[in-house]
Amino acid sequence: MKLFQRITVKVGSNVLTRRDGTLDVTRMSALVDQIAELHKQGTEIILVSSGAVASGRSEVRPARKLDSVDQRQLFSAVGQAKLINRYYELFREHGIAVGQVLTMKESFGTRRHYLNQKNCMTVMLENGVIPIVNENDTISVSELMFTDNDELSGLIASMMDAQALIILSNIDGIYDGPPSEPASQVIREIGQGKDLSAYIQASKSSFGRGGMLTKTHIARKVADEGISVIIANGKRDNILTDLVTHPDTTLCTRFVPAPQPVSSVKKWIAHSEGFAKGEIHINRCATEVLYSDKAVSILPVGITDIRGEFEKDDIVRIVDFEGRAVGVGKANCDSAQARESMGKHGKKPVVHYDYLYIE
Ligand code: GLU
Repeated sequence: MKLFQRITVKVGSNVLTRRDGTLDVTRMSALVDQIAELHKQGTEIILVSSGAVASGRSEVRPARKLDSVDQRQLFSAVGQAKLINRYYELFREHGIAVGQVLTMKESFGTRRHYLNQKNCMTVMLENGVIPIVNENDTISVSELMFTDNDELSGLIASMMDAQALIILSNIDGIYDGPPSEPASQVIREIGQGKDLSAYIQASKSSFGRGGMLTKTHIARKVADEGISVIIANGKRDNILTDLVTHPDTTLCTRFVPAPQPVSSVKKWIAHSEGFAKGEIHINRCATEVLYSDKAVSILPVGITDIRGEFEKDDIVRIVDFEGRAVGVGKANCDSAQARESMGKHGKKPVVHYDYLYIE
């Protein structure tokens, strides 16, 4: 029985690179074999692959000392070409076509851009093509970059309505203590709403930008949208096929998904925090209602302040009476209209429940 119809697989730089920073083609080839097997069984796969910067590093010797932005731009330009070329060759041996999708944070900012990307990958999947996604490191602007490819893979899994997101790193999962200590064990399952901050190691991986902190944050968020999230070791043989065919006996950390999948538009909003154009401040009463289990909209009567300028359909941040950012939503009107109705009874919601995401 097929557990998942559509999955997103994220492969980190540390899985694809050897200790000396060169591309580990043997590992890549083993992963491609497994993806090809799942693809042949009818599972749709979107691959989010890091490794551009790491594989470019070994190709060029810069003529002068480069700063970190120049290095990233140069290495990723060269390395992405090398990476996708390898994938192309490896998948071709299985008779599978792949397509390259290079994206940036801005490309998720408006609903139109978002749907355009979704459409691009949908048409690829419909035609049996495996999308291979990476951030367009060469031209993305540092301040506006994804934290790392974990964040990107969360967005992709969510956007593509995948049933599972598998994050492959070079450790077996999330440990209940320092991974270097023999007594530490991999946490096999993380239930909803469990606070993990005590377990997480803040150290980063050596070749990628990510770390366990962002992985956990993203994993929780994506699982809350109804998608299974699995963190596992991409260096283990047959890890992907094992995870998909017998997940219960394969070593990994699994985040239990919310029972109700979240609507597609809410998923977009949930990942749009970075694009908020303005803020809606709400009073204590509205804050309390928001945290009750009821489905509520942001009504003008509970609003105390509107900050910034926004248009209808822009993303706005919701700030509670104590100044905490508590969520994001899609504005139902522009900022001038919101100011006009602020504090008044019987007016249309400024953010409708269907377009509201509370953290
Ligand atoms: N996009 C980067 C690369 O391909 C990786 C970012 C990350 O480390 O997550 O090299």
